[in-house]
Amino acid sequence: HPPFDVHAVRKDFPILAERVNGYPLAWLDNAATTQKPQCVIDRISEFYRHENSNIHRAAHELAARATDAYEGARDTVARFINASSADDIVFVRGSTEAINLVAQSWGRQFIGQGDEIVISWLEHHANIVPWQQLCQETGAVLRVIPVDDDGQVILAEYQKLLNAKTKLVSFTQVSNALGTVTPAAEMIELAHRAGAKVLLDGAQSVSHLRVDVQSLDCDWFVFSGHKIFGPTGIGVLYGKPELLAATQPWQGGGNMIEDVTFEKTVYQPAPAKFEAGTGNIADAVGLGAALDYLSRIGIENVARYEHELLEYGMHALRMIPGLRLIGTAPDKTSVLSFVLAGHSTQDVGKALNEAGIAVRSGHHCAQPILRRFGLEATVRPSLAFYNTYEEIDRLAAVVKRLQCSKTHFSG
Ligand code: PMP
Repeated sequence: HPPFDVHAVRKDFPILAERVNGYPLAWLDNAATTQKPQCVIDRISEFYRHENSNIHRAAHELAARATDAYEGARDTVARFINASSADDIVFVRGSTEAINLVAQSWGRQFIGQGDEIVISWLEHHANIVPWQQLCQETGAVLRVIPVDDDGQVILAEYQKLLNAKTKLVSFTQVSNALGTVTPAAEMIELAHRAGAKVLLDGAQSVSHLRVDVQSLDCDWFVFSGHKIFGPTGIGVLYGKPELLAATQPWQGGGNMIEDVTFEKTVYQPAPAKFEAGTGNIADAVGLGAALDYLSRIGIENVARYEHELLEYGMHALRMIPGLRLIGTAPDKTSVLSFVLAGHSTQDVGKALNEAGIAVRSGHHCAQPILRRFGLEATVRPSLAFYNTYEEIDRLAAVVKRLQCSKTHFSG
């Protein structure tokens, strides 16, 4: 790959030229959603200009174009995460829908009274609530892997939770609140040794590190298009072929059937079996364009640059008196969660916004992990490969100024 040039890639993202409150926009809210390169915007527009049709059903030219584009995007996704086949890839609305799909189809079918589901303390609400709902319906029990003070899962405690009753382990590869990278391959192997299946939440990982679902050996992998420079409303459920084959569909309707009579319906094989109704065709095509774009830049280049930027940011924030970094695991990516003594997280967010810097302040849909650190909210700058050292400097300067003014007044 050519050396990584942040100023060149920034030109690919028209929105990065916006000004906010008189300042150049610094988009540091990438864990919430990422910005879209021109090629993705163009690809969606091209679809509606030249290819738009429903897929599969009609024998006309535009149906063929739309079908080719949609199935081509599925191939791209399969290659991107190294699935064994495009048939392992189900298009859904996002990570949330993918997890609910597994809970409501495989879960209802294979989880029963007294079975155990293990999640981690780091999980986003999307990887907590669907399992709680399933437990309520089935009488299964939810168990939670604790984390240490740096925000990493405690492997010894995890091992103690695994037993013959464990049917499923569902955890995140990267924490959206702290940035912790969990030891996924090791955790998956331990779960399999206990006879459990594993769902890996890749919402925060696929855009930052190389994911290979076959070498990880996860049973399901989920991610959202909008967090990887693609559109909203499109996401991916990867499943091992034998699992997708053994699982009953979740929703019924058009597209997912082979044959329907009033007595009986024969379903299509996966992935069509899980894609009832007209899906988000244009945005699936847009996601394919986003993954092709990222592949051209090279995920290893992205990971290397982001790692340097994260180290720089951690160092800059650590220098600020009264600032407490939340999430200090050695293995982490992209997220710089913190609280500032004497200032609410809203106030910090507001001061940053006034300086054109977009961060999220709040609970980040991960209340249990923040409460683990005695907090209800943090300020959360989160990085992508188009962020710069200069943006980190601006962030640190605003926070430092806020802190100094407070110290000045109260002192
Ligand atoms: N899991 C994690 C780790 C996330 O960060 C998010 C989004 N913040 C989700 C799941 C849910 O993703 P979506 O809202 O796109 O369905």
